[in-house]
Amino acid sequence: MQDCIVVGGGLIGMLSARMLAGSGRRVVLLERGEPGQEASWAGGGILSPLYPWRYPQPVNALAAWSQQRYPDLCAELHEETGIDPEWTQSGLLMVAPEDAAEGLAWARAQGVRMEQVAPGEARAIEPALGADAPGGLWMPEIAQLRNPRMLKALRHSLELRGVELRAGYPVEEVLHGQGRVQGVRGPWGELRAEQVLVCGGAWSARLVPLAQGEALPVTPVRGQMILYRARPGLLQRILLHEGRYLIPRRDGHIVVGSTMERVGYDKSVTDDARAALQQAAESLVPALAGQPVVRHWAGLRPGSPQGVPFIGPHPEIDGLFVNSGHFRNGVVMGPASCALVASLMNGVEPPLNEKPYQLRAGLQKG
Ligand SMILES: Cc1cc2nc3c(=O)[nH]c(=O)nc-3n(C[C@H](O)[C@H](O)[C@H](O)COP(=O)(O)OP(=O)(O)OC[C@H]3O[C@@H](n4cnc5c(N)ncnc54)[C@H](O)[C@@H]3O)c2cc1C
Repeated sequence: MQDCIVVGGGLIGMLSARMLAGSGRRVVLLERGEPGQEASWAGGGILSPLYPWRYPQPVNALAAWSQQRYPDLCAELHEETGIDPEWTQSGLLMVAPEDAAEGLAWARAQGVRMEQVAPGEARAIEPALGADAPGGLWMPEIAQLRNPRMLKALRHSLELRGVELRAGYPVEEVLHGQGRVQGVRGPWGELRAEQVLVCGGAWSARLVPLAQGEALPVTPVRGQMILYRARPGLLQRILLHEGRYLIPRRDGHIVVGSTMERVGYDKSVTDDARAALQQAAESLVPALAGQPVVRHWAGLRPGSPQGVPFIGPHPEIDGLFVNSGHFRNGVVMGPASCALVASLMNGVEPPLNEKPYQLRAGLQKG
């Protein structure tokens, strides 16, 4: 019998497994494909909610906790594995948000650094903007990381910390009886454990047994991204305008996102989205016109009501836990969310108030 089984090898599953192993637990992580190939790979790695004041406090509480710890976490992973997740404090420039006054009021109340940028001053912050760039809001402390590197580092770290990672192990069912979890079942057989943690991203609802007519309200929301190859330094800041963003990587690549599409479990990409993302990027940063778009992909975000994830024990099945539904902010909320679930599984004082994330609070009738 294992101590605990983690289902799902995205950022949330791997980080949860790492924390559980760090507290002395024996952990097996089951991933149906290869770890780190779904939403966590597809995402942008911006370490802030976009327009954070538009999100409920429970999202910002997890984000703020994680933002404090990300520099050390990335440095530790780099040191441990030799893989640099490229935590980079690029800053975030929000161009012409229509609710700038609300943004400034939120930042003042939260003690978050945010500066108003007058028209004509934005190019002093990001010279790649067009000559007629309007003003906006500047958050100099916002950072980013490079998702594929973060995931590689996490995977390596799990191996070093003795987590048994099984790739190609789909879980079909969580086994339980008399109000207690027993383990999981897949086409490969059964595995027993005292605790099971579901971190299945957009697929989590299928894994969480609930009463007839109830379903965990976590559903897929497709996001498409494109990638430019440009010279390093062409763009230095993360830019956000009318919901589209540009993220400059250290080697010159620029990630541009994203779309929000409710199309079920369909990860295909469309010409329309590519054209719309290109148009948004090149009208904001004219120097991108003519630069090659070298990749176009889509990922499925685990959508949840208001983007607030479900973190904690199952309301009826002892030993079953969930950490899922991070929607657009799973990377930035990850460390806090995983620390919270690990503490609840270990029965120790949680680092944050767990109430807003409890499953019972968010369940809807299916
Ligand atoms: C285009 C896009 C841009 C984004 N940008 C950002 C951003 O800039 N900042 C930010 O913070 N967040 C961003 N996000 C959101 C973030 O990526 C997600 O919230 C986060 O990655 C969710 O992580 P996860 O581990 O829950 O899900 P996933 O990474 O999807 O992992 C779930 C894993 O569970 C596995 N699994 C599912 N079912 C089973 C099963 N039955 N058995 C075994 N394994 C199973 C899957 O194969 C998968 O590997 C973005 C997402 C997208 C798609």
